Parts: sequence; C-alpha cells; structure tokens
Amino acid sequence: MLTVRELRVTYGGVVQALQGVSLSVAEGEVVTVLGSNGAGKTTLLRAISSTLRMCGGHVSGGLLEFEGRRLNGLPPAEVVDGGIVQVPEGRRIFTRLTVDENLRAGAYSVRDRRARATARRRVLDLFPLLGERAEQRAGLLSGGEQQMLAIGRALMSSPRLLLLDEPSLGLAPLVVGRIGEIITEINRQGTTVLLIEQNTTMALEVASRAVVLHLGRVSLTGSAAELAASTEVRDLYLGHSGERAGGGTRRRLGTWLP
Ligand code: ATP
Repeated sequence: MLTVRELRVTYGGVVQALQGVSLSVAEGEVVTVLGSNGAGKTTLLRAISSTLRMCGGHVSGGLLEFEGRRLNGLPPAEVVDGGIVQVPEGRRIFTRLTVDENLRAGAYSVRDRRARATARRRVLDLFPLLGERAEQRAGLLSGGEQQMLAIGRALMSSPRLLLLDEPSLGLAPLVVGRIGEIITEINRQGTTVLLIEQNTTMALEVASRAVVLHLGRVSLTGSAAELAASTEVRDLYLGHSGERAGGGTRRRLGTWLP
C-alpha cells in the first residue's frame, strides 16, 4: 500500500534528518516505527503527509508511493483526499471549538453527506464519550480524551492509511492501554496504521511489524514478536535485558541493516 524507498529529508538545507530510509506498509497492517529522540520518526510522517515544507524541510531524494501513486510533491490536501490522514504529535485539536466542531472539521473535505454520516457513526461508536460531550469545548477534555478526539477527527474522512505520531505521549499507563486497544479496533475495522511510538511495549503489542530508526537510518526491522524478543530493542527501548550490554552472546532477531 505504502512504499518508501531511499527517502532523504533535509531541514533548512543543513540537517540531514533522513538518510535513505526504505520501508513498506501492506494493506491491513499495523506497522510501528520506533527510535529514540531525533531518530527521524516525525520527519518520516511529515514526508508521507507532505507537510515537511511547513516545518522548513524538504525531500531531497527517494520515492514515496501510495497505492501506486507518487506522493512526492503533492499538496497536503491531495494526500488527504488520496486516503492518508496524519494525527500529529501533541493532540493538536482546536481547543476553543466544541468537540462536535472538531469532528466536523475533520470531515471538511468529504462532500458525500452519507459518507460523512457513516464516518461519524463509526467515530461515535469507537468513542461514545465524544457524543456525550459533543457541545463541550474541546479544551476542557482530559489529555486522554483529547487524544481520542484527535484520532476521531482524523477518522472523519475515512482514511485508508492512518498515520499516528506518538498517541501515548504524556498519558497515564491505563489510558495508554486504552489507546492501544483503540488502534487495534480501528485496524480490525479495515484501516491500515503506521504508528510512531516511544512507548515500545504498547507499540509492539499493537503492531504486526516494526522498523527501528537510528539517526535517520533504518537500523533494525522485523516482526513485532521478533523485535520484542531482540536484545538490542530490549536494551535500548524496553529498558531491560537478560544479558549485559556489550557482553556475552547477543541474540540477533529481525534483520540488522547496514
Ligand atoms: P522525537 O521522538 O523527539 O519527536 P523524532 O524521531 O520524531 O524525535 P524528528 O523530530 O523527526 O525525530 O527529528 C529528526 C532530526 O531532524 C533531528 O535532528 C531534529 O533536530 C531535526 N528536525 C526536526 N524538525 C526540524 C525542523 N523543523 N527544523 C530543523 N531541524 C529539524
């Protein structure tokens, strides 16, 4: 469904944020992209959603393709019309608008009234609270509720590929668990998901495959189960390992890439 090949991204003509990243997402998958701060995870999503230019970045090489259509150079609105919607990091909802107004803003590009109604029913089934609080100002919702609104708003245009940038950021463990369940449900309903996460435990539970970025390159890729069991991921991202770092035999599961 999505192909990213040898993608290079530069900010301000100086910072090489991505240095030849390749990955693919098949229809129906949840793929997670892991990596420490500054690895290039958000940059990857910005490149796919064509929003790099707003942040002073540009694609300096490589290919982005969605369902056989080249994404490079498309305006962001055309990417959305094509079926890709991004939920940016930090729950950027309209805090002064009501919950309902936020949801309607998510459907602004959908002309078919029935499609809007169907998407709305789906969102309110997934998040009944958004129906109960429809007339309340969105800024009054809790952090977890705002994240649910941000995801619900993105679903209002019925994307085929949902890009999620750190949906668990700053949320309590119980809420993070709920977000994980919701991602699984959204995927079960037929939406493909590319999930950026720092919460490696949640991400590897929800995803079928994972890609680890390190300093703008893919350092490791494999099934979620393989990565959850790999010493490298456990040392670096899960904060525990049965072996001492640098010593003994290190199990190498997944595929290390140069
Ligand atoms: P985090 O988990 O902290 O959000 P990340 O993996 O998402 O990190 P990016 O935000 O994509 O990483 O950043 C990748 C690199 O690009 C970093 O070196 C960062 O400083 C740089 N960068 C990101 N955004 C900009 C920008 N708007 N202008 C200049 N440099 C940027």
